[in-house]
Amino acid sequence: MPASSARSTGPSSGAASTDARRPVGDPVDKQLPTPAEKAAEKAWKVDLRELGRRAGSMREWEKTLPALDGWGVEMIGVPEGAPVQLHLRLESVMEGVLVTGQVELPVTGQCARCLDPVEDTLELDVQELYAYAGSTTEATSGEDEVRRIDGERLDLAPLVRDAVVLTLPLSPTCRPDCAGLCVDCGERLDDLPADHSHEVLDPRWAGLAARFTETADSADPTDSAAGPQPGSTSRTNPEEN
Ligand SMILES: [Zn+2]
Ligand SMILES: [Zn+2]
Repeated sequence: MPASSARSTGPSSGAASTDARRPVGDPVDKQLPTPAEKAAEKAWKVDLRELGRRAGSMREWEKTLPALDGWGVEMIGVPEGAPVQLHLRLESVMEGVLVTGQVELPVTGQCARCLDPVEDTLELDVQELYAYAGSTTEATSGEDEVRRIDGERLDLAPLVRDAVVLTLPLSPTCRPDCAGLCVDCGERLDDLPADHSHEVLDPRWAGLAARFTETADSADPTDSAAGPQPGSTSRTNPEEN
């Protein structure tokens, strides 16, 4: 692969260093994302320079962006790359930027009862304040309480991911009253006739089955007479006094 140009991961504008503060790079010990993944992640970061910092300025943000990896729970989630529709409003407020609006995204998974594929569309309302660096909100809240604005960028991906993960059911079902699978044959009960049953015994085995039942009845486990019953008496035993 020809190196088309030098790595341009640094500041986009040449004369960016107005002060000595520079972001400390994360230790790069995880796998590097592919260019496509990088582009997808970048697409979720809103450049705030267009919005401006004046409280009250507002911007509608209508976009369709690809879902990132890992937006889901065990049995259901948003497929990576699936289109996520954002109908958002970004509003500059004193402490930061308020993001409100709706997010619409497809989810796919498996019914927790019958394992059939499940497909659905989630519509989520979001409302979130992203705090400016140096704002009172930032100073008085933990990083896990209030989202932060990273430089001039506001990353919408964690907001949507969290909203998705919190909304998705841990046990999705193909329909609310899915009956699940027959424990004997593994077929979907909803696909089987109502009287589906495995209790009909072959007459040739009936006698044997009866004998098994008798044996089970006679093997009564009451001959373990000795032994204290735990928890039934207190520790002091009056007869040993
Ligand atoms: Zn089901
Ligand atoms: Zn069955």
